[in-house]
Amino acid sequence: MQEKDPFVFKYEDVVAAGGHDIRLAPEPALFADAFENPAALKKLEIELILSVGGDSVLAEGVVRAELQLECSRCGEPLTRTFEDSFDEVYPDTVEYIDTREVIRETAGILSPIKVLCAEDCKGRCLVCGTNRNKKPCGCRQEKSGSFEALKDFKPGHPGGK
Ligand SMILES: [Zn+2]
Ligand SMILES: [Zn+2]
Repeated sequence: MQEKDPFVFKYEDVVAAGGHDIRLAPEPALFADAFENPAALKKLEIELILSVGGDSVLAEGVVRAELQLECSRCGEPLTRTFEDSFDEVYPDTVEYIDTREVIRETAGILSPIKVLCAEDCKGRCLVCGTNRNKKPCGCRQEKSGSFEALKDFKPGHPGGK
């Protein structure tokens, strides 16, 4: 007997039931390996609708993941939820409808390459490292990231010119 997996369905059972509409919240550990940084995955939700057609079953789903990430600009931790949908057709030649792979693939592309805590995140000061969202620092950096600006900065002359 095959081990019961909530993402694997016997084709004939699905047809007999006339389809399925399921919402699952699996242990993140089950799909964590689909993520570049498995520890980032805090919560996972999957919605799955199986529709019976003439000679196939259509699986439509949504994968929703809560990820713990860091702002690409200031490095502060942040938690965001990402989701994506998928659909996959299983022909009536299969014995089992195994949705694990398509769920894994969908989950694997959820992580953004870059994420910001806020659209206007000010980032960290290149000179002193202060998180400039929290408090302004006195460093000169009109052109942030410019080496010219850094070269002109002379510590120890608070009075300026
Ligand atoms: Zn930020
Ligand atoms: Zn600074």
